[in-house]
Amino acid sequence: MFGLKRDWTVTLPERYFTFEDYEGGEARWCPGCGDHAILTAVQRICRDEQLPPEQVVSVSGIGCSSRFPHYMGTYGFHGLHGRALPVAAGVKARRPELKVWVATGDGDCCSIGAGHWIHAIRYNMDMTVMLFDNAIYGLTKKQTSPTSPKGLSTNTHPRGAWLPPLNPTQATLGFTNVSFVAQTVDWNPVHLHATLKKAYEHKGLSFVRILQRCPTYTDKVFDDLQSDPRKILVLEHERGVPVDPALDRVFPTRQAHDPSDMGAARALAARDDVFAIGLLFQDESCPRYEDFTRRGLDMSVDDKLAGLDAALDRFAL
Ligand code: SF4
Repeated sequence: MFGLKRDWTVTLPERYFTFEDYEGGEARWCPGCGDHAILTAVQRICRDEQLPPEQVVSVSGIGCSSRFPHYMGTYGFHGLHGRALPVAAGVKARRPELKVWVATGDGDCCSIGAGHWIHAIRYNMDMTVMLFDNAIYGLTKKQTSPTSPKGLSTNTHPRGAWLPPLNPTQATLGFTNVSFVAQTVDWNPVHLHATLKKAYEHKGLSFVRILQRCPTYTDKVFDDLQSDPRKILVLEHERGVPVDPALDRVFPTRQAHDPSDMGAARALAARDDVFAIGLLFQDESCPRYEDFTRRGLDMSVDDKLAGLDAALDRFAL
């Protein structure tokens, strides 16, 4: 009569996953490398979302960042140089229910993997793509990458890189069927986590460019952003990356930005006086390739074999 419950049974989940369940081998990146923060952010999201580790796949190409799958306690595929995205697309095509995280670097994605990058964006398969942008080839010890700033002294251009750097965000916003583009920096774990979570929640391919510190080879490339936090432009919108109030003191420069406005997103991506962080563009109505490749996924083994037999019989004499 007082509204008291008779049944005080507490329903516990059959399995509860801790942070440690997503930890793989000990990370062997250099001390101070931004990759550590990105790894932690992804593991936290997996834990918070209680993703069964066997339902998570991390895929990479080649480079420092591409060691990512070794450090996740989930399934993983350490692929070939530039080939993270086609491998991830293959996983998603046959197992659309899996949660796929792609770790790729500026060399891996924007140079040898550039063709795959364009078409992966167009295919828009549901996965989270993290571009670890440290402006250098780190694993092979300091060669100029597509995003190395002009004038940076490297082992391939000791007198300084000759060409202006490629802007991966601007490029991605120009690809057909792009559905989610965001930017963040590894040195602010709160914004990094919030951005990757927003990307994870997106239905389609979410592309996140992360400025990633490489204290070993490009320790000065983000100096202007780190020494003058006013150059970090925080994007705000009710449909954008949630901005923690604590960021007010760290990054005081703000701008309202509607992520459905492609023109404004392209203008923000092109700015070189500030670096915009947050959600630049999102359109969840873009078609996803895996929605067209589900045919046959629910077939039994017998039906598949019968189908194969029928196909082969067409060539029998
Ligand atoms: Fe990180 Fe640079 Fe070391 Fe590679 S070389 S692990 S990117 S700090």
